[in-house]
Amino acid sequence: MAEMAMYHSLGQDTDDPSANPPPPAGPQQQYLPPAAPPPTGYQQPGPAPYQQQQPATYGQVSLPPDPSSYRASTPYGQAAPPPSLSPYQQQGPYGPPTQQPGLYGPPGGDVRGLAQSISGMDLAGGVGTTPGTISKASRKKARAYHNLDQSSEPSNGPNLPAFTPNVANQMPSSFLGQQQAMSPGQGNSQFPAPANPTFVPAAPAAPAAFAARSGSSNVGQAGGKVNPSDIPSIPGHRDHYIAQYRATMYPTLARHQPPHATSDYIAHDQGNASPRLCRLTLNSIPATADLLASTSLPLALLIQPLAKLKDEEEPIPVLDFGEMGPPRCRRCRTYINPFMTFLQGGGRFRCNMCLFPNNEVPSEYYAPVDMSGARVDRNQRPELMRGTVEFVVPKEYWAKKDGEGAGGEEGKGGSPMRWIFLVDVSENAINRGVLESVVGGIREALYGGSAYENAPEGHESEDGKEGKRRRLPKGCKIGICTFDKDVQFYNLNPNLDQAQMMVMPDIEDPFVPLSEGLFVDPYESRAIIESLLESLPTLFMHIKNAEPALLPALSTALSALQDTGGKIICSLSTLPTWGPHRLFMRDDPKLYHSEKEKVLFQTEHQAWRKVSGRLVEAGVGVDFFMTPSAYIDVATVGHIASTTGGEIFFYPNFVAERDAHKLRSELSHSFHRETGYQSLMKVRCSNGLQVSTYHGNFLQRSHAGDVEFGAIDADKCVSVMFSYDGKLDSKIDAHFQSALLYTTRQGERRVRCSNIVAGVTENTRDAIKMADQDAVLGVLAREAASRMIEKPLKEIRGALTEKCVEILAAYRKTSGGSPPGQLVLPETLKEFAMYVLALLKTRAFRGGSVASDMRVHSMRLLKSMGPAELQLYLYPRILPVHSMTEEDGFLDSTGHLKIPVALRASFGFIEEGGAYLIDNGQLLLLWLHTHVSPNLLQDLFGPEVNSLSDLDPNMYELPVLETHLNAQVRNVIQYLKTQRGSKAVSIQLARQGFDGAEYEFASSLVEDRNNEERSYVDWLVHVHKFVQLEVTGQRKRDEGDVGMAGMTGMRPPYW
Ligand SMILES: [Zn+2]
Repeated sequence: MAEMAMYHSLGQDTDDPSANPPPPAGPQQQYLPPAAPPPTGYQQPGPAPYQQQQPATYGQVSLPPDPSSYRASTPYGQAAPPPSLSPYQQQGPYGPPTQQPGLYGPPGGDVRGLAQSISGMDLAGGVGTTPGTISKASRKKARAYHNLDQSSEPSNGPNLPAFTPNVANQMPSSFLGQQQAMSPGQGNSQFPAPANPTFVPAAPAAPAAFAARSGSSNVGQAGGKVNPSDIPSIPGHRDHYIAQYRATMYPTLARHQPPHATSDYIAHDQGNASPRLCRLTLNSIPATADLLASTSLPLALLIQPLAKLKDEEEPIPVLDFGEMGPPRCRRCRTYINPFMTFLQGGGRFRCNMCLFPNNEVPSEYYAPVDMSGARVDRNQRPELMRGTVEFVVPKEYWAKKDGEGAGGEEGKGGSPMRWIFLVDVSENAINRGVLESVVGGIREALYGGSAYENAPEGHESEDGKEGKRRRLPKGCKIGICTFDKDVQFYNLNPNLDQAQMMVMPDIEDPFVPLSEGLFVDPYESRAIIESLLESLPTLFMHIKNAEPALLPALSTALSALQDTGGKIICSLSTLPTWGPHRLFMRDDPKLYHSEKEKVLFQTEHQAWRKVSGRLVEAGVGVDFFMTPSAYIDVATVGHIASTTGGEIFFYPNFVAERDAHKLRSELSHSFHRETGYQSLMKVRCSNGLQVSTYHGNFLQRSHAGDVEFGAIDADKCVSVMFSYDGKLDSKIDAHFQSALLYTTRQGERRVRCSNIVAGVTENTRDAIKMADQDAVLGVLAREAASRMIEKPLKEIRGALTEKCVEILAAYRKTSGGSPPGQLVLPETLKEFAMYVLALLKTRAFRGGSVASDMRVHSMRLLKSMGPAELQLYLYPRILPVHSMTEEDGFLDSTGHLKIPVALRASFGFIEEGGAYLIDNGQLLLLWLHTHVSPNLLQDLFGPEVNSLSDLDPNMYELPVLETHLNAQVRNVIQYLKTQRGSKAVSIQLARQGFDGAEYEFASSLVEDRNNEERSYVDWLVHVHKFVQLEVTGQRKRDEGDVGMAGMTGMRPPYW
């Protein structure tokens, strides 16, 4: 309990806890703190933090300090300007919205007028459920299996009457309440007042005022205004959940509401798959299609099948049933799982999906059952205890049935994996330093620090490196090819003196010109590979062909991998304009905003489609490293990556000095991340439901058929939508199982099964209250991105807006008791509207002119990224550097790194003289205000840096200095690295008035009016208006209005 106390104090140290969502009231004692080991690698505080010697020397002297601001006491705190000096009065491109309304509007530019027009608007949360709250009744059911016959007892699901009272007691659940709690610490004193004349710095509310503001009373009385600080705060919630899950574990069955994707949770698999691998949009499944329709939410599963688990989490068990293979339902082929029930003394089992009772238990698998119906050996059987397991599979699952040509010698069904590095050596790649960077990346992947891991105790080092062993599994091989207008292969046989180049003579009819020595063990051939990599940049220096022939190069690489499958890592720096099926510049700004714009987002090039299909068939995935300086037709080239399950790493305006580091790290990550190839995925679900659509980057040959990946890796995520073909019984749970058949890097054929179960409800409100915001967003983003090739962008934007309105209106309709003027948001979808707005502001969907390459790249990202990466992509994490407390950036008493309080993404919260880290999961910007203190610059970058102009614009990491601040920021960046998906963390400078990256900074302030969309406040007002019309039945869909025009065509059941 000591740890519990610590946890509580943790939760309290930032704010008044009374208005924060309370921690889940689940059976915490049972799952007491996981005691995650403190992270390693962070520098510890030095003995004498310099701040104590130089108190308050960093403040700007030109402005009088505001006594009400605690900043005055922080070391770098730019004294906040007095209230009369609004932050919008400063210079630079972020001026007041009245001057530049297009780009940098503040939150709620014209809040006052709009607020009056919706007088009485209440952003209160109404009564919602606490994430993870479970009642006594459901706790009883918190076990790893369900007895389907016990229909008298309510099922594990959340549809329990006990929920509501429980929740009502615990949850003030109101954004206003939230704000009250935030304001003393972070809401107001930390931030200068936004330029909103009606802004009233909130004093802590008296209990009566608090009560009046939260829950059912009409909040409009508080002044009839919408205070930007009152609306749901994404950073506030993220910080809250990060703190919460650092101290508690997430038990996957005992609770029903998965943690936020960006919180550092540790999941304990109790029979339900970890939310890292699977998330349901609704954790309480509507019993009928009509009921689902009444929620307006999609019923879908978000699956990231090979997601990286945390070190503290138990690894996924690998089970081998020998020749017999894993037991499966005879009727629907569901794999054995914790929810199958054993009958007739253990001789038969009933399937949890199709309820077929007559499955025979194979004699090898027989065990008697005890009084409760559970097998006596259950605790020794991971497949009956764990939500996710992996089965080694017998011959009938192998990629090549006879095992021949597929590394059959070890009898595992596949070959140890093979990679081809396909390197662009055309003129553009050489001149811009790309080739050198890519070669550096290959060297880093094969022999850099990340190529080795610490050998376990007593393990012989294989590579002459003390205590290190290679990360690449035994038997894996690599090959290197280069291409410009020809394709060159290299014999890397370790017995040669140097690599031999073979030029493939005929790009019209490509074939592999050597039979041996193409694929080698990179450790055996280390000398020869290193010398080849060394010489490549100079080798092609004098040749310099301007035009690469990409498709022939890919086709040849495919023939080399035809029999084994594997992965191609390909660099490309310019449009491939040479050889058969060469591409042309086809981007045409005249098509932007037209019906035809969507043509730019896809390829109609049959040859490219055909090669994609053949790659998937052979079990080959392709990752691209694109460094274009102009149009490169991401739509066509990237089609290969997206169809084969690969990824595009995109570096527009590549500058070698700045970006090489990022490229090298990402290439190494692409090589080493968990990857499976020759892969097939199928999802099964309970009777009454059926799979309707998959969305993501893969190949699906027939509608609703299985999806195929040439290769799939840890960072890839897909969504599966379900529809109804019957009615669900609310007395029994709904089940889902995803099965991914693949070859591991070691060459073993396996099936990874993830099972997920949820209760069934007959109540709309319960269903919405158990929604999973991360999953809903992941599904919406994928679906909207998939439609970009079918529908004009304007319609997609309209559909997303419409969806947002419908979902909130659906919930509003269930809150009968609330005054009509209130916008009531379900607790679980509190930030949903902001995320939808952010989605509308992504490069994929935003209005205005966006180069088609950028749009398509963003679209494919949205289709493949996991929920944590998506959250950051939509709404960045903004951390102030200049105002960190002394403890920030160092380990706290619980052994976790203390992260500064994140800011809302609005210029209204940016301080004069400030310095900020902005992490959107793809880029890490370091934004520095023009008037940043020289002392801060010196402490951060070194004594020689006195002004912004002294900084190297291509800086990508901080120097290592002895100062406290420098250590803090480096530690924070180290932490951010652990939160990333596939992208490496590399600083990009955005100095106010200096760097082009300032544009990125401005557009990442998604709460402001920018990116051709409203501010967050205006957006809420807008959405609320339509929610009211919808609820009162006054909406005329066919006519619509400006924001909703043309929407009627886009209303299939799940939109
Ligand atoms: Zn079945």
